[in-house]
Amino acid sequence: MKKRLGLVYGGKSAEHEVSLSTARAVTEALDLDKYEVLPIYITMQGEWLKGDPLTGPVSNIEALRLKSEQPKPDHIESFLQGDMPDVILPLLHGTNGEDGTVQGLFEVLNIPYAGNGVLASSAGMDKVVMKQLFAQAGLAQVAYVHFIRSMWKEHAEQLLDQAEQELSYPMFVKPANLGSSVGISKADDRESLEKAIELALKFDRKIIVEQGIVAREIEMAVLGNDHPKVSVAGEIRPVADFYDYEAKYKDQSTELSIPAEMPDTVAEHMKDMAIRAFKVLDCSGLVRADFFVTADDEVWINEVNTLPGFTPTSMFPLLWQKSGLTYSELIDQLIELAVERHTEKQ
Ligand code: ADP
Ligand code: MG
Ligand code: MG
Repeated sequence: MKKRLGLVYGGKSAEHEVSLSTARAVTEALDLDKYEVLPIYITMQGEWLKGDPLTGPVSNIEALRLKSEQPKPDHIESFLQGDMPDVILPLLHGTNGEDGTVQGLFEVLNIPYAGNGVLASSAGMDKVVMKQLFAQAGLAQVAYVHFIRSMWKEHAEQLLDQAEQELSYPMFVKPANLGSSVGISKADDRESLEKAIELALKFDRKIIVEQGIVAREIEMAVLGNDHPKVSVAGEIRPVADFYDYEAKYKDQSTELSIPAEMPDTVAEHMKDMAIRAFKVLDCSGLVRADFFVTADDEVWINEVNTLPGFTPTSMFPLLWQKSGLTYSELIDQLIELAVERHTEKQ
């Protein structure tokens, strides 16, 4: 019997359009003899809309933008009505997408879903919690300080002093709970540090100030549940000063090189770090582990992304392609892993 697969895409997020392109690519890659695909679209206003099962791949993105007959005050109401899918493939990013909240909804409904669970998603979304767990696992990472908005309001000068004592310029200032480089800036002196902090605090009540380093940016993809596998490594070469929002989504000139050139010993060390990061956050399904690698091959973990970019030209699927897994096979595996995890939990 065909599996009823719920594709959840869109979302009240800056990455709404990216999610739509991912959904289109996924419909083109899915074997419709194997799955009955149910589109579940979250509008920019946060309304959840269910569509009819797909009869073929969707090549026109506009067809995925389902329309509401009557916008409902309860945004999730129409999703909760009627039959539920057998398994869900969440193709969302950012707040309410990869931070554990939507995963919590699927848990409550007892539906298997692809990717990380509540704990890994929320821990991976908060850069401070993530770093504290990485430290626990003995993973090398850059030095940092962190604080919340109310502390800044009361003790700004002391916090600037603390950052200058513990770190040196340049520093990177980031909202703790975002992605896609939103709200991140580089500070070269006390004045720009103050500005960067003010900016980051507009996006989050918690922020992190990190030691800036000059390094290559290298990523690895992890796939699995209890016995995860790691892909080859890929390098990102942004043309901008750092890999900012523009470079990620607007600028076509960022270069990817897969596999990244590096000695085998370094690649092995990174694979081991990627697995340790996956395990310490109790991840499942997938994770993209992002590293800094200095000119003398010192490796620092930057972050993991629990729902990495998933269009066919995104790093995560490309890394698996180079490791011998096609886009369609990758999706099949994520769905199988979702079911496996759900069964394990019972
Ligand atoms: P996001 O979760 O938004 O992707 P990151 O922590 O990965 O946030 O930071 C975005 C980008 O900023 C990185 O890809 C890198 O280019 C740059 N960057 C972040 N932290 C540092 C750092 N400590 N030193 C040097 N560059 C950094
Ligand atoms: Mg991130
Ligand atoms: Mg990043």
